[in-house]
Amino acid sequence: MLMVRIISMMNVENVSFKTGDQPCIDFGGNCQYDSNPCSGSYYSGKCSGSTNRRCCKPTTVAGDQPCIDFGGQCQHDSNPCSGSYYSGKCSGSASNRCCKPAVTGIFDVDQPCNDLGGSCQDDSNTCSGSYYSGKCTGSSTRRCCKTTAVEQDTGDCSDVKIISRDSWGARRPGSTSTIYTPVPDFFIHHTDGGYCTSFSTCILKMKGIQNYHMDSRNWADIGYSFLVGEDGKIYEGRGWDKVGAHTSGYNSRGLAASFMGNFATRAPNSAALNAVKKLIQCGISKGKVSHYYALFGHRDVTSTDCPGTALYNIIKTWPRFKAHSP
Ligand SMILES: [Zn+2]
Repeated sequence: MLMVRIISMMNVENVSFKTGDQPCIDFGGNCQYDSNPCSGSYYSGKCSGSTNRRCCKPTTVAGDQPCIDFGGQCQHDSNPCSGSYYSGKCSGSASNRCCKPAVTGIFDVDQPCNDLGGSCQDDSNTCSGSYYSGKCTGSSTRRCCKTTAVEQDTGDCSDVKIISRDSWGARRPGSTSTIYTPVPDFFIHHTDGGYCTSFSTCILKMKGIQNYHMDSRNWADIGYSFLVGEDGKIYEGRGWDKVGAHTSGYNSRGLAASFMGNFATRAPNSAALNAVKKLIQCGISKGKVSHYYALFGHRDVTSTDCPGTALYNIIKTWPRFKAHSP
C-alpha cells in the first residue's frame, strides 16, 4: 500500500530529464521529488521545476563505485527508477540496487510524446487520459500519457465497439496469466457502483474500478474481462486472453462482462444489453468463447446478489443461459 501511494504521488516530471537538471547531473546527483528517500543528501537550486524537486546526491560508499562508474546511483529498489535497475553493482543488501537513468540531460528525445501533447511516465501510474506506445525514450513501460482521452476501438469485431485499455488509460497490470480458450463459461456481473452514459464518465469509472481492485483489493489488475457502460460501449478489462478475478472458482474457465452500475431494481438500458450480447458473439467468432458456452449470472455459482435481480431476470432469457452445469 505504501509503495502504491508513493507511486501515485509521483509527478510526471519525476521521471523525465530536462535541460534545467544539468547542474544536478554535473554535481553527480539526480533530480527527484524530495518526498522520496535519498541515499545521500539533498541539494536545492540544481533542478528544474518545483522547489520540491531537488538534487539527491548519493553518499559515496566504496562498494557502490561499480554503479557510479556505470552512470547510476545506488538506492533501495522499492523506489521508482526513471531508467533500469541493475544488480550486483551496489554495496549492502540485495535490494540496494543500481538505478541508471534512461536518458541524461536530453529533453528532445521524448519529443514525439510532447508533440502529441502528452508526457512520458511509467505506465504503472494512472494516466488521466490515454496511453500511447513508441513515443518515449527508455524502457517499453515508459509511455506517453495524453491527458485528454481519445476513443480507440480494439477493432476485434465490427458490430461492437470495444474501447482499448490504452484508450481508457489503464495502468500496467502487476502480473498476468493466460487463459485457455475457447472458454466454456461466460459470467455476467454488475459493478454495484455508479453507472455511466458517456465515454468521458465511463473512463473515469474504469480508472476508479481499476484503482480499487489493484490498490484496495491487491489484485494484479481490474478484475473483469470486460465492462460495459450505458453509452453502449464495451470497455476492455483483462481482455480475451487473461485469467480474470471475477468469479471465484471459475476464473480459469470463464470470461466475464460486468455492467457498470447497480441493477437490483433497474435494468441496464438496451444499448448496454445489446453490446454484451454482441461481445459474446464476437468472442465466439474470435475463438475465445466456445460455441457450446453456458451463460451464468454471478449468483448462479456463489452467494451474492450480483448481477442484481433486474439484470438477472433479463439474462435468464438470453441464449445458452445455464446451457450446462457450471
Ligand atoms: Zn459479480
